[in-house]
Amino acid sequence: MKLFSKPYGYRRRPTREVKVGDIGVGGAQPIRVQSMTTPATHDVDATVEQIHRLVQVGCEIVRVTVPSTRDAEALPEIRRRLLSSGIRVPLVADIHFSPAAAMMAVEHVEKVRINPGNYADTKRFKVWEYTDAEYQAELERIEERFKPLVLRARERGVSLRIGTNHGSLSDRILNRYGDTPLGMVESALEFVRICERHGHRELILSMKSSNPMVMIRAYRLLSERMAAEGMDYPFHLGVTEAGDGEDGRIKSAVGIGTLLEEGIGDTIRVSLTEDPVAEIPVAFALVEKYNRCIEPMPAPTGAAAVSHGFTPGATYTRRDSARLQVGKVPLGGGEPVRVECRLRAPLGDAAAVAEEIRSLEGPSSTPEARAEILEVDLPGASEIAQLEQLSRLLRSRPDAPALSVRPGPDFAAAGLPHLEQLAHLCDRITLRLAGSASESDPMQELLFRVARLRGLALHLEMQVEDAGLDAAATLARLADRCHSQTGRLPMLSLDSAVGISPVVPYRVLARTLADSRIDAPLLLRTDVTDRQEDPLLFPSVYLGSLLCDGIGDAVRIEHYGSPADSLRLAFNILQGTRLRLFKTEFISCPSCGRTQFDLEQTTRRIKARTAHLKGVKIAIMGCIVNGPGEMADADFGYVGWGPGKVSLFVGKDLIEKDIPYAEADERLVGLIKEHGRWTEPPVAGIPAVIPAGGTRD
Ligand code: SF4
Repeated sequence: MKLFSKPYGYRRRPTREVKVGDIGVGGAQPIRVQSMTTPATHDVDATVEQIHRLVQVGCEIVRVTVPSTRDAEALPEIRRRLLSSGIRVPLVADIHFSPAAAMMAVEHVEKVRINPGNYADTKRFKVWEYTDAEYQAELERIEERFKPLVLRARERGVSLRIGTNHGSLSDRILNRYGDTPLGMVESALEFVRICERHGHRELILSMKSSNPMVMIRAYRLLSERMAAEGMDYPFHLGVTEAGDGEDGRIKSAVGIGTLLEEGIGDTIRVSLTEDPVAEIPVAFALVEKYNRCIEPMPAPTGAAAVSHGFTPGATYTRRDSARLQVGKVPLGGGEPVRVECRLRAPLGDAAAVAEEIRSLEGPSSTPEARAEILEVDLPGASEIAQLEQLSRLLRSRPDAPALSVRPGPDFAAAGLPHLEQLAHLCDRITLRLAGSASESDPMQELLFRVARLRGLALHLEMQVEDAGLDAAATLARLADRCHSQTGRLPMLSLDSAVGISPVVPYRVLARTLADSRIDAPLLLRTDVTDRQEDPLLFPSVYLGSLLCDGIGDAVRIEHYGSPADSLRLAFNILQGTRLRLFKTEFISCPSCGRTQFDLEQTTRRIKARTAHLKGVKIAIMGCIVNGPGEMADADFGYVGWGPGKVSLFVGKDLIEKDIPYAEADERLVGLIKEHGRWTEPPVAGIPAVIPAGGTRD
């Protein structure tokens, strides 16, 4: 993968190096991969067994949950057993609420993670206007309680992670800053300043959320604020409660990958509701590309940052684009982000074409997930009869996609009549432009005439092999010309050469168009042909990254398995970014020593009952300690409330408490029905979740 040079290139955010035992995090160190154990830490046998398995697959740092002093007491024995097997992996104690557990744990681990939302601070959902004096008094009280841990950690050379989670912010922060990325950042910085006042600078920060958009904005804002305050601490990246299977991997790739593309992130954890061992290959697949270019460079600021097409820390806003009608499909201008596919079956094979079109109509349980625009290659005028057949077939089906045709270069020689014939059969024509595209290209001239005569939508695509500055300037010029000659703007896209990330070129294009006041809609394309990149994760990184910045009116993934596989991945990425909820959104925690039931099995069971509920957000959380806070914006919550007991939430409100585990699924369904969000599942059943890593040809 090519990483560009200045000013658009990849730059790792410069940080100090923080030691976690023998492992350096930040600075010029590779981006580290870590995970967390799931058994109760006081179950020493199970914890040690899992750490062994994690280390075997390359996990570089292992976190264990320490909710109580009983768990802290187990740490020396865990350490002893690991050392006796020759394992020196650094251990991190994960603390919530209990300064006593933290003070014991700090004696036996290489890092302690605290959550500023609940370490020495309170969360009782209390609404209270703090005066400045009251706010300051609270901070002083927190400092008194936090100071002993800071001093002891400094003395022992133990690093601290200040780990803020969206949804578990303290009342004090919530009341002043709201449940926002700014609140998350302020919450962490308050604790960082306390550490600095007491001379401890071995700090790592995190800003996690189950919503990738929130976490991306929080980390960007944090990096901006830290730069302004002269702080250079490394970041731990993660998306909380990402879930399992393909969805969990996509959500993690969108959140973590977007930031890694920008040079933000020094260690990552991919939280999956699966055996934590399964997290490690996903994490390595994400960081590998960036670890090939680890030298930190000065981060872009001012005009250079803006020239990437986004403003770090800003709230989500979709790029303004003109509405374009492609057959029956409107796109741009605030319409949902559309999904396109490319026909793979040979046009001459009518049976194969019909079969492929059926496969693009979406699974029966989620008919919304169907191709909205289908693009077909038409090498020469001799295939027009076959195109006519396809056009008839599509027009006979009520939910068929709009048809876009990409004529080969022979059409320019064949002249206007053939292009007019094409225009009659399809809803859009795509023109692929060479790097040297100029205003005198005969095909352009003909197409502009046809588009004007027929009121046809056009799509201009250009290949890029670098940051795309020239391509963006050419496309902006041609889009303007198309508008003045045909009365409407074309759709624009870039085709990044194999090995080129499309993120920077598309940002450059968005910025160039904005500077020229051209609001042509953009099709985001990514091609899964770089064998060095994971075929599931990197389309998620590239498309997710741009979509989270508000760039993109349609998406298309090329060469990810069959066209139906590409279609499903595209919809799953849109779901992961929350831009199009076409199925149930599941938020499930990765489980840990506090989990009150078998989370993997429970999640599978609840998914089987509710996976057809389009747009409903259901959280499945292992415990009361963090569950209610961290399920953030879920519509319904299923939370472990004690051994064999579950409680149910609607939004943030606790509705039913202490339900026996065996009855809880049924009660959840009942609650969804009572709130009018239930629909009966379609008879055909639920679409299969494809294995992690996906497929490709
Ligand atoms: S919600 Fe509870 S059980 Fe789940 S990972 Fe968080 S602390 Fe552990």
